[in-house]
Order: sequence, then C-alpha cells, then structure tokens
Amino acid sequence: MNSRRDFLQKIAASAITLPFMPLSGWAQAPAPYDGPVLRVAIMGLGSYANRVANAMQSCTKAKLVGVISGTPSKVQDWQGRFGIPAKNCYNYDNFDRIKENQDIDVVYVTTPNALHRDQVIRVAAAGKHVICEKPMALNAKEGEEMIAACKKAKVQLLVGYRMHFEPKTLEVIRMRQNGDFGKVLFFQGQCGFKIGDPTQWRLNKQLAGGGAMMDIGIYAINGSRYMIGEDPIWVTAQETKTDPVKFKEGVDETIQFQLGFPGGAVASCLSTYNMNNLDRFFLNGEKGFAELQPSTGYGPIKGRTHQGELTQPHTTHQTVQMDEMAGILLEGKRPVVAVDGEEALKDLKIIDAIYQAVKTGKKVALTV
Ligand code: NDP
Repeated sequence: MNSRRDFLQKIAASAITLPFMPLSGWAQAPAPYDGPVLRVAIMGLGSYANRVANAMQSCTKAKLVGVISGTPSKVQDWQGRFGIPAKNCYNYDNFDRIKENQDIDVVYVTTPNALHRDQVIRVAAAGKHVICEKPMALNAKEGEEMIAACKKAKVQLLVGYRMHFEPKTLEVIRMRQNGDFGKVLFFQGQCGFKIGDPTQWRLNKQLAGGGAMMDIGIYAINGSRYMIGEDPIWVTAQETKTDPVKFKEGVDETIQFQLGFPGGAVASCLSTYNMNNLDRFFLNGEKGFAELQPSTGYGPIKGRTHQGELTQPHTTHQTVQMDEMAGILLEGKRPVVAVDGEEALKDLKIIDAIYQAVKTGKKVALTV
C-alpha cells in the first residue's frame, strides 16, 4: 500500500513540476508550418482523384480547395467531404473561368488519358500551373504540344510520378549514384495486373490511347530510367494477346520490351493486363544488386540490396508527392528525379517507339 501511495505521490509531484521542467532533453514537437500553401483544384473526380484528395488531408504544404467535374452529384459530395466553397467548383464547359479565381494555384488533371492534352492546354491558357496524371498524353506529339502551351502561358507542368518521392526508391537511386552497385548492367521491370470490367475506359482505345502499356507498363519504362540513371537509345518489343475480344485492336494486353542504354546496360520488361502479382524491379551491377517488390504499388514498398533489407519508412505516396510538388511550384525546389513535362515526354517517346517496334518487329533507335 505504502509503495502504491509513494508512487501516486511521485506522479502527482512530477505532474505539478512538469510545466517548469526545461524542454532540453525532451522530444520537441516540430514548429508549425507557416510557409506558403499550394491551393489545388482536382479535375475528374474518379477513383484516383479520391485517393489524392484523401491523402492531401495530411499535407502541410498543399490544400484541396476546388473541383472540376462533369457530375454535379460528385461536386456536392466533395463540397461536403472536403469543405470546398461553391465559388471553386467548375465543370468541363466553364473551367476556363478559373482564370479569374485568385484562390486556386494549380489544377490536378485526373481524367482518362485521352483528355489530358486538351484539358492541360486549357488550364495553362487560364494561367494556372498544371499537375497531370500519367501517362501525360497519348503520344510524344501531344506531350510536346502540352509543354509548349505551358511554356507560352508561363506556367509549370508537373506529372504525377509519385514513385519519384518514395523513400526506398530514393535510397536505391542514392546507392546507385554513390557507386554502391558498381557499373549497372541490367534492369528488370515487371508491371501488371489482371484487368476486370471489359467496358471500362482503360480498355477503350479512344480514351486510353492503348492498353496495359499506357497504364502500367509506363512504370517499368520510367523505373528503368530512374533505376539505371540513363535514358535508352534503342528498343525492341513483342506483343502477345490471348483475348482479342477483351483487348481489341490497338489495346495491348501483354508486351515484353527491351531497352538499351548508352552505358551498356539493358532492361528487360513486361507490361500486362492479364497477370496478377507483377510489381517487381530488379537492378544488377558489377558490385551489387537492388530488388523492389512491390516496386510501384501504393505500398508499403519492400526491398533489399546486396547490403541488406531497405528499412526506410512507408509514406502515403500522394501526401508526400503533393507536399513536394508544393515545394517545386511555390519555392522552386528541385526533386531528385524530375517530375516535369520534359521527364514525361521521354516516357511518351519510348512508348511511341515500343508500339513501333511491336508493329514492325524491328529494333527502333531512340533519342529522348
Ligand atoms: P476513373 O475512371 O476512376 O476516373 C476518371 C474521372 O474522369 C471520372 O470519374 C470522371 O470524373 C472524369 N471523366 C471525364 N470524362 C470522362 C470520360 N469520358 N470517361 C470516364 N471518365 C471521365 O479513372 P482513374 O481515376 O483510375 O484514372 C484517372 C487518371 O489517373 C488516368 O490517367 C490514370 O492513368 C491515372 N492514374 C494514376 C495512378 C497513379 O498511381 N499515379 C493510379 C490510378 C490512375 P467526373 O465525373 O468528376 O467528371
């Protein structure tokens, strides 16, 4: 009993003395952020927009303030969920008027691929920065037009490459830059999932611009570049199709492709809409290796190198991405791996070359 009373007395005493204790030696809470905040409107309130909006609730430097949608019921729902004022709500007919809205800095385009080009060009003409989802466009020509429009309007164009901010991915890049793998010789990128509903826009050539390559194969393309640290100079590719009803003309089901890099490394990649459990990157060099599996899903990303497990913490990709993009757009911060229109254009040039290689059966030389 006595010892219990002593204990309680000690607690009471420490509670009384707490406010007078010096702060040194205690974990100090970070100072509240009082820098500039990026005010974001999202266009196309679908599945990914919801993910981004939810993740942005935890951002310190970015805030969801507006929406652009073709569905009035979604606008009403989002207004309620995220406290969006009516004056920041637009549809596809009237969103050019965003030009007059001083409370929106950037529009994040999360509509089907085929709509990106025109929508990005319209946002740029309205004088707002643009974040566009991947793939930035259907082909390199469209990508170039978007970049030119943003330059002309003096706004920035970023693309939603969330993996460029992912801690384990960045650690592999740091190790490669540090020479830990020695001369890099080989990359393997396997990206795919079994796609469901045959009526969805992802299986409609007009809206998707292609098939698995546009949607998921692009991760292997982009990943090969940031893992190896170079841009490819040639490509070969082979397509297989087991279900020509579901995957119509121009909608690729499975493509294997190979990329050659100036330093001598080669990449061997698979893009598919017909296999699950395919989300793996492997990098091999003369002195070591890195493996990420899963490598590009929403995480947690897992990985190891010849030095052991990668232990960097899991982050919500879209939260970090939006905070980092706020830093880029508002403070001129430079990311480790670029996320601008030029970066995305490289992937589009490679996709164009892969489709050309599939069609011709020939090796296609590349200058990205
Ligand atoms: P969804 O189909 O879920 O949403 C797209 C939204 O775009 C719709 O809900 C609709 O919103 C709007 N829209 C406008 N016109 C059309 C149309 N003709 N057909 C269909 N929708 C239309 O797609 P996702 O959210 O999955 O994908 C959107 C984009 O985001 C794609 O480019 C995709 O590649 C990319 N993405 C990126 C991911 C990443 O990890 N970075 C992950 C998933 C997707 P509304 O009713 O409000 O107009």
